[in-house]
Amino acid sequence: MEKNRIYLSSPTMNGLEQQYIQEAFDTNWIAPLGPNVNEFEKEFVSYLASKEPTESFENGLYSTALVSGTAAIHLALKAVGIKKGDVVFCSSLTFAASCNPIVYEGGVPVFIDSEEDSWNMDPKALRKAFKKYPNAKAVIVVNLYGTPAKLDEIASICREHNVVLIEDAAESLGARYKGIQTGTFGKYGIFSFNGNKIITTSGGGMLVSDDQSMIDKARFWATQAREIASHYEHEEIGYNYRMSNVLAGIGRGQLKSLDEFIERKKKIYYTYKEALKDIEDIRFNPIPEDCQPNYWLTCITLKDTSKVKPIDILITLENNNIEARPIWKPMHMQPVFADCDFISMVDDPKGISGKIFECGVCLPSDIKNTDEDMGRIIRIVKGFWGSR
Ligand SMILES: *Cc1c(COP(=O)(O)O)cnc(C)c1O
Repeated sequence: MEKNRIYLSSPTMNGLEQQYIQEAFDTNWIAPLGPNVNEFEKEFVSYLASKEPTESFENGLYSTALVSGTAAIHLALKAVGIKKGDVVFCSSLTFAASCNPIVYEGGVPVFIDSEEDSWNMDPKALRKAFKKYPNAKAVIVVNLYGTPAKLDEIASICREHNVVLIEDAAESLGARYKGIQTGTFGKYGIFSFNGNKIITTSGGGMLVSDDQSMIDKARFWATQAREIASHYEHEEIGYNYRMSNVLAGIGRGQLKSLDEFIERKKKIYYTYKEALKDIEDIRFNPIPEDCQPNYWLTCITLKDTSKVKPIDILITLENNNIEARPIWKPMHMQPVFADCDFISMVDDPKGISGKIFECGVCLPSDIKNTDEDMGRIIRIVKGFWGSR
């Protein structure tokens, strides 16, 4: 193909990562856990805390670095004590990693529909779900594509029902709701550093909580549940979930660029919005009041009546060597979760989330997109409406 590939969201290294990795090599601290892991955990929570009114962390904030965001959700559910048959509510419009760990523990996912105004978990549907399942044990709320859910309302519903909130902030690192960092609203927050997230360690995750003893416990489970003894002593089942010292070095470097990356992602969102504003069929992923997203991905939806369909845009972009993606297919529409319940405020089995899926496209939102790349993408999209 004649033109360079444009990516949806690929890793962007700033050079500092290499220095931290070099340190790990110089000290032969390739393994086991080491200074980069400890420092990355500290620097990560200081990043979150530095942006906060201090009173929101009166107990402090603690973290453990893991192999993935999925592992972080798994350990959060273990920390809550989810057992066979326990109901856990989870946003339906998300990636399967949000809810797979519920099943690892024998729990029963019940999916909650989205609201129009944020695409995230509808607090009204969550209330309705508690009426049907008053014994639910936990709620997993996702901040989709980097836009916060109505986190204070959802947190307060959880408090009313005495249920633990786990915030899946895998896509929303650095985003804020009412000025407060996402990932800090629930008892547990999880983050991902997978390859296409806003910062990456090639693969990795973080679990945070204000409960130091539970973070210590999660770290213990993540290192094979090895008891303190001179021999190998095990009283519980453990996991091999800790982040390596080399990868934590990448994370330390990446974290230094996070604010800049958010600015660049924001610029991408508003560039698309401005360029496509005259096309009435196109709407953008909404940004409600009180939200300061990290703009991880810019998404559009097309009106039902539009002659252009998402698949047309996806195929044409691909033919031009440009990577775009459909919106996540909601969990309640996935064959593997066909038996799970779905709670919605609308009278349509697809729900609002299913409609967003059917009419949506994630546009290339790579930090390295040049003005020329943006122009190329925009020209192709506009071309469908005959306006280049
Ligand atoms: C990426 C992602 C995860 C999983 O993170 P991994 O690090 O890939 O395991 C979980 N939830 C959401 C919403 C994600 O986008």
